[in-house]
Amino acid sequence: MKFDVLTLFPEMFEALNESIIGRAKEKELIEINLINIRDFSKDKHKKVDDTPYGGGAGMVMMPDVVYDAYSSVTDKENAKVIYLSPQGKVLNQEKVKELSKENHLILLCGHYEGIDQRVLDEIVDEEISIGDYVLTGGELPAMVLIDSVSRYVKGVLKEESVAEESFSNNKLLEYPQYTRPEEFRGKRVPEVLISGHHENIKKWREEKALEVTKKKRPDLLK
Ligand code: SAM
Repeated sequence: MKFDVLTLFPEMFEALNESIIGRAKEKELIEINLINIRDFSKDKHKKVDDTPYGGGAGMVMMPDVVYDAYSSVTDKENAKVIYLSPQGKVLNQEKVKELSKENHLILLCGHYEGIDQRVLDEIVDEEISIGDYVLTGGELPAMVLIDSVSRYVKGVLKEESVAEESFSNNKLLEYPQYTRPEEFRGKRVPEVLISGHHENIKKWREEKALEVTKKKRPDLLK
């Protein structure tokens, strides 16, 4: 899976060099290319934004600079271009799974007041939001998307891990997890989990998943 990220702040993506995603990059299971939109400014001061026509607060990213950054991406015939935007469809696990079937995603990160509408109309296939709140830029949302989608790329995680977790297994939340020691501050691990009885463990986990979902996210059961 290849991600090309168009951003004004490529350094922010260093967070993706850590842990599971960092290892996935090292093993070349995923590829993340960072394209600095500022490199495409035609201005001697490297200006990338300007005041909005019609007035109003803030600055708007200029269409030609963004378009030139997009044009620099190679082999993009089968790529899907996603603009991270609070106005997009809110990302959920189903959408994450759907996106993981793509081979090449181009992620466009806005900043300031956003991006001139004309270039969005020209290049964007889909707008995705990570929730109904406004952030300063699309970089954190792009990282959320890369992280969640990469987990479905073959080899990044063990297959059972993604099949059994919250939102995947019958759309329920996951059952509680326990590890060593068997007793912690007077609280013991549920006996069934150390019984070695696989059928009973499976049944207990199913019951707990339902109980946890009812308690924390009853809306998922509707
Ligand atoms: N003026 C825009 C509006 O009211 O819709 C908000 C612009 S926001 C301050 C700057 C950039 O952050 C956006 O262009 C977008 O790329 C990103 N962004 C902010 N909130 C986001 C969210 N919830 N999901 C995805 N991207 C977001």
